[in-house]
Amino acid sequence: MAYVISDSCIACGACEPECPTEAISEGDPIYVIDPDKCIECGACANVCPVDAPVEE
Ligand code: SF4
Ligand code: SF4
Repeated sequence: MAYVISDSCIACGACEPECPTEAISEGDPIYVIDPDKCIECGACANVCPVDAPVEE
């Protein structure tokens, strides 16, 4: 299980530098999480203004 970024993402970019494993990258149109790199720390969800990252 990994976190996934839902459609509510507004592509603000706040989560990307917070990820300890660099699992987050800018996608089109929303940011995406590489499930192979995500360690489920929750840091992205903590900084997201719209609660877009959710546990799958
Ligand atoms: Fe990165 Fe942690 Fe978010 Fe997974 S839960 S994408 S490891 S910040
Ligand atoms: Fe999208 Fe939230 Fe990340 Fe901003 S912090 S890019 S809204 S997932």
